[in-house]
Amino acid sequence: MKHTLPALPYAYNALEPHYDEATLRLHHGKHHQAYVDGLNKAEDKLGEARTSGDFTLIKHWERELAFHGSGHLLHSLFWANMAPNGQDEPSGKLLEMLNESFGSLDLFKKQFSAAATAVEGSGWALLVQSPEFGGLRILTIEKHQDITLIGAIPLLTVDVWEHAYYLKFQNRRAEWIAAWWNIVNWDDVASRICCC
Ligand code: FE
Repeated sequence: MKHTLPALPYAYNALEPHYDEATLRLHHGKHHQAYVDGLNKAEDKLGEARTSGDFTLIKHWERELAFHGSGHLLHSLFWANMAPNGQDEPSGKLLEMLNESFGSLDLFKKQFSAAATAVEGSGWALLVQSPEFGGLRILTIEKHQDITLIGAIPLLTVDVWEHAYYLKFQNRRAEWIAAWWNIVNWDDVASRICCC
């Protein structure tokens, strides 16, 4: 089965002024598409290797699978996690879990922003639910696949690759993160909590 680029659940200009249309078009249509294509290629090549019995390049294609596959999943989550300005703040079970795990909503936001700002090079900040450890954790991911926590359920992510914000914010990553908080879709985040 081929992977495909998911359509955005809003128009390209719907997240203005916090997320500009030009960046969103490039980011979704070009960058995310490239990860979908890379994932399909890696899976094709692994299939060819099984058919031919030649696993000489197995290390390369497994790495490509992890990079492009994680890139595809993280971007898909990132689009769904956003909505036009004016969303409700977190409430109910999500707010309860944020309070329990981080002390308060404000402390969660501060830690998440600091983590996202501190990602070395290209990467992501990611809020996860950890059924094994209990509660929520904030992860920083380098590239799309390095430094993670196995088994954690992704809830909320922000892309801090330069391609996510450079057209508008240039080197001011912290300003991009501050703008992004205005367009978080908390209902989507809450819908991802697992009752496991
Ligand atoms: Fe991206």
